[in-house]
Amino acid sequence: IQGVLRRLHRRIARYRRQAARTMENQVIPRKALVVGAGFAGSVVARELAEAGQHVRVIDKRTHVAGNAFDETDPQGVLIHNYGPHIFHTNSERVWNYLSRFTEWRPYEHRVLGVVDGKLYPFPINRDTLNRLYGLDLDEAGAAAYFERVREPREPVLNSEDVVLNSVGRDLYEKFFLNYTRKQWGLEPSQLKAGVAARIPVRANADDRYFTDKFQAMPINGYTKMFEAILDHPNIHVEVGIDFAHVRSQEVFDHLVYTGPIDAYFGYCHGRLPYRSLRFEHEHLPGVAQFQPVGTVNYPNDHAFTRITEFKHLTGQQCAGSSIVREYPQAEGDPYYPIPSDGNEALFKRYQALAEAEPNVTFVGRLAEYRYYNMDQVVAAALAVAGRLVESHR
Ligand code: FAD
Ligand code: UDP
Repeated sequence: IQGVLRRLHRRIARYRRQAARTMENQVIPRKALVVGAGFAGSVVARELAEAGQHVRVIDKRTHVAGNAFDETDPQGVLIHNYGPHIFHTNSERVWNYLSRFTEWRPYEHRVLGVVDGKLYPFPINRDTLNRLYGLDLDEAGAAAYFERVREPREPVLNSEDVVLNSVGRDLYEKFFLNYTRKQWGLEPSQLKAGVAARIPVRANADDRYFTDKFQAMPINGYTKMFEAILDHPNIHVEVGIDFAHVRSQEVFDHLVYTGPIDAYFGYCHGRLPYRSLRFEHEHLPGVAQFQPVGTVNYPNDHAFTRITEFKHLTGQQCAGSSIVREYPQAEGDPYYPIPSDGNEALFKRYQALAEAEPNVTFVGRLAEYRYYNMDQVVAAALAVAGRLVESHR
């Protein structure tokens, strides 16, 4: 009996030593709070969760996916609630990353611009010139045409310069001037060059809106893709919660903030201007196809800038069609940072505060006040998350 007891004591002592060693090595998981469940917040949350951190994601809206949110409307058509979102990227890393969470439907976006009641390919290409001016130019002829009509600008300082410098005054006035005034409530000369520089000018007949290597839509929509990104045992998502309500109560090791940067700092330097939109959604019963392409731009007519018909984007087959008109406005949800020198200077003052804020990371279109596309936000979020994970290893 004594032998058995001795062996038992030895075994208990061994277990105790093992348990003590485990306790010493145990790392208490870090807790992160992520404000905003759009691309920026969701991607950072996923990366931190995979690194073992416990992540609480909140969003003041009642859904995830931020501005990329989509859902079926009452007639069963998949729509983008906050305007058309077309995924395109040249980044293999971003493409591979998102491909972990969705399959894709290949889709190349095409846009037509209405001038004097007629539809023309946009961005401006060879066919735009030929149809608009009754010409028969080939690619070299179109390039020579642009060269003849352009108003050279040196240096190119703003969005007016960008367009005049490449296509001259008539095309500027037909396609850009009034659209830009409507979209931003500003003259093109008041906007940084990068705004108009988003739109290429082509001497060839390529009529795609984007020429990126990867162009596709998440096969079951954006919201489903976000649900997959956020589906991790270390992630806890709560929607319908404003940061203002948890700010003073929540205990966390790190905060990732993807809302407007000026709001975070109580607008202490004044408000950063954002451009908002009113979305007018409409279902057209019995209409198989409303317009020939995904988006038609109305630079000179109406108070809205463009109409998008979702079936083109999603490939959905159904009776009836759903469209959205976008009406730019000053007040409302902050959809676009407004790229101007003055706004950039104001943002820099907030950025200085952000850099001095301990244990807080600011990332995304609103927190960085950058006119980011979705893929650029994903890339920014992956970079930020990589640095955060590395610094806590
Ligand atoms: P958001 O998607 O804005 O997410 C931020 C989230 O933070 C929001 O859900 C918000 O509710 C939440 N939040 C803010 N403040 C608080 C708070 N105090 N408390 C809690 N939550 C808060 N990009 C493309 O690549 N292709 C396109 O075709 C395209 N089309 C677009 C069309 C429109 C009309 C707009 C407005 C944008 C478009 N974009 C497009 C850009 C794209 O929407 C953004 O790049 C991307 O969605 C930004 O992600 P984000 O996470 O930075 O911001
Ligand atoms: N733009 C224009 N006419 C058009 C389309 C675009 O003048 O028909 C200008 C306008 O200033 C717009 C910018 O180009 O804000 C960028 O257009 P984009 O389609 O990239 O805007 P987004 O899809 O981000 O609203």
